[in-house]
Amino acid sequence: MRLDGIHHISCITGDAPGNLEFYTGVLGLRLVAKTVNQDDPYVYHLFYADESGSPGADLTFFEYPGALQGRAGAGMVYRITFRVRSYDALGFWERRLADHAIATTRHEDRVRFDDPEGLGLELVAVQSPDAPLVAWHPEIPAEVALCGFDAVRAYGGRVASTGRLLEEVMGATSPTEYRWELTGSARHGTIAYDAPPTLPGRAGAGTVHHIAWATEPADHERWLERLHRGGVSSTPIIDRYYFRSIYFREPSGVLFELATKGPGFTVDLPLERLGRELVLPPMLASRRVEIEARLTPLRDPRADW
Ligand code: ZN
Repeated sequence: MRLDGIHHISCITGDAPGNLEFYTGVLGLRLVAKTVNQDDPYVYHLFYADESGSPGADLTFFEYPGALQGRAGAGMVYRITFRVRSYDALGFWERRLADHAIATTRHEDRVRFDDPEGLGLELVAVQSPDAPLVAWHPEIPAEVALCGFDAVRAYGGRVASTGRLLEEVMGATSPTEYRWELTGSARHGTIAYDAPPTLPGRAGAGTVHHIAWATEPADHERWLERLHRGGVSSTPIIDRYYFRSIYFREPSGVLFELATKGPGFTVDLPLERLGRELVLPPMLASRRVEIEARLTPLRDPRADW
């Protein structure tokens, strides 16, 4: 039983229209699902990914309209790294982001920048054995497009205990100090920890809420058993409609989720219509009119393509 890299990463935005514009319009991801937070249905849950909505490329945002900007601190992920395929791609992104008034810094094989709400992002040029997970965008050639997640960096606190959980329960390897890799049948994903800043973290716009690792659907219940045998207290298995989830907090404080690789976003819409209409889980379907009236109107990013 192995965890198949990063499944999705969920973050917070205070500005859904600006968030949609940046991740689809500038970075070229596809909006693959526009739904609501199951635990708070007046809050959007937006899912961006590759063309097929694959685990491994799925960046999600909860919208709390007008939320104050947060700040990453101990126990929080502070940077998300996407793969690109070449140094040429890094050059493309340096130019494109500059054209959109986004400041970047170059570090050899990496380009770093922040999203409009301060969320740390990074592109790394790597030759990965993992399939490139690419979305189509008219201004972004496929050979330079984002290819899915490579890694996250977090601020630690109790990294020795976090490492034991990652290695002994979750099956991670540690190629270098404070860095762990989770490798399954299809993908590789890495989490690295740095010493936390002095200021405490504050959840808010531009911060990461949790990171999900991918499981084979058939293994999910055995993962729950393995966590409990390893002394980890977790939620039960929760049906998130697109996948099933188990949540637990690792010792440094980062909220982890184990999410099944299926059934995925085509459970309710055909592939070509993903993201083009508000989808509500069955338990909320009867409240559609009331819920839609309270959500921020969002344009369909592909309406005029
Ligand atoms: Zn999640």
